[in-house]
Amino acid sequence: MDPLHYLAAHEAADLLARREVSSVELTRAAFDRVRALDDSLHAFLTLTEEEALAQAEAADERIARGDAGPLTGIPVAIKDVLCTKGVRTTCGSRILESFIPPYDAFAVQRLKEAGCVMLGKANMDEFAMGSSGENSAFGPTLNPWDKERVPGGSSSGSAAAVSAGMAFYALGSDTGGSIRQPASHSGIVGLKPTYGRVSRYGLIAFGSSLDQIGPLTRSVRDAALVFQAVAGHDERDSTSATLDVPTVTEALAPDLKGMRIGVPKEYFVEGMDEQVRQTVRAAIDQMAGLGAEIDWEVSLPSTDHALAVYYIIAPSEASANLARYDGVKYGYSYNEGASMWENMEKTREFGFGDEVKRRIMLGTYALSAGYYDAYYLKAQKVRTLIRREFDAAFQDHDVLVAPVSPTTAFRLGEKTDDPLQMYLSDVFTIPVNIAGLPGISIPCGFSRGDNGSRLPIGLQIIAKPFDEPSLFRAAYAYEQANDWHKQHPEL
Ligand code: GLN
Repeated sequence: MDPLHYLAAHEAADLLARREVSSVELTRAAFDRVRALDDSLHAFLTLTEEEALAQAEAADERIARGDAGPLTGIPVAIKDVLCTKGVRTTCGSRILESFIPPYDAFAVQRLKEAGCVMLGKANMDEFAMGSSGENSAFGPTLNPWDKERVPGGSSSGSAAAVSAGMAFYALGSDTGGSIRQPASHSGIVGLKPTYGRVSRYGLIAFGSSLDQIGPLTRSVRDAALVFQAVAGHDERDSTSATLDVPTVTEALAPDLKGMRIGVPKEYFVEGMDEQVRQTVRAAIDQMAGLGAEIDWEVSLPSTDHALAVYYIIAPSEASANLARYDGVKYGYSYNEGASMWENMEKTREFGFGDEVKRRIMLGTYALSAGYYDAYYLKAQKVRTLIRREFDAAFQDHDVLVAPVSPTTAFRLGEKTDDPLQMYLSDVFTIPVNIAGLPGISIPCGFSRGDNGSRLPIGLQIIAKPFDEPSLFRAAYAYEQANDWHKQHPEL
């Protein structure tokens, strides 16, 4: 059996239920691991040890009373984009460096009701803008598999914490790939639910029509359990779906008999890493062996435009969402200027990092009079086309499978001078957000880095809106036929 810190959350829950371990012990083990590793990995921005131990004691009492759920007493890391009552929430930005929210995000509130133990807040790219974690105002997170590399982003700290065995699972957010891509680069499972499935209340907004909250975990079953805990209607998010949440744990079956799987041709592009291409193809062949019917000829012709559409829509929404950071009500405030306007300008000049400023400028330009029709409106039209192509593909297929990212984890600093190269890291994840679909990343193998390190590769499974059960079924059957998820970095 794995050491305690590498157990899947559901395995830890079994031990708790059998009273072979207590939540306080799990929590202490997690903090020991954090103390041993996080000075170098830098997955956490804030630790909440005292509160965590109090939550662990409460969880142990609940377990003793026979009143425990599957996540009661399990230690979790929360991406610092989610508001946590009384606990500093920076969103990876100087402008919120000392912001203490007066309320919990809906997803956090749900986990607390489930009896979670919150270890702390996880590092991230500033305002979730980035694919490497290097845009954090507080310094980058390192990849536990190879400390010369990034763990992916923007949920960089969430991914590294779970991959390195510091947290049993984490919450992240995904606007263009920020859960799936770091999960892929860090060798863990990452789920982006259907848009509308998880309330965005208390999620610091980036691109409101794209943002979704989801889990990063060490097993598909864990992702299903966390999904069930955080999904569901919330009237405080106007886009929250009113549909019932399916019991996805019931969809976890060991084979794929009768499942129709489509492989979009456009997701195997020239220039992608050969090892990624081959590993993903081998995974798909294996799914055929598990009983699925594979159609290698699916086409989503507008895939090429998705990145351009995203880099109009997401910055446009961000430029509006970030207008609130003016130093007046909360967050960092410059107040030595000669006028209110100067104070606001300086607050934003000193408070935001370069990438955030780039997005605000892109968005402001795309929305400005005279350019709106050419950029924003056009992008919205192409967005509809992309969604229709997915709809058509799902007429004859239950799920689509593809790579998560064209490469494995890249080196720190490798793409920081070239925003376009950084943006390309998300070409395969962005279309899923554009169309509002659910997508999951699961480990499907490794490649060798040039320095000999083993670098995880992820398989992406995509389903139609609100069909998370098919997503989980495909992911679980593949996972169980392999032991990729049982492999952990040597630390
Ligand atoms: N990397 C993409 C971006 O920088 C996606 C980020 C995300 O999903 N939050 O916008």
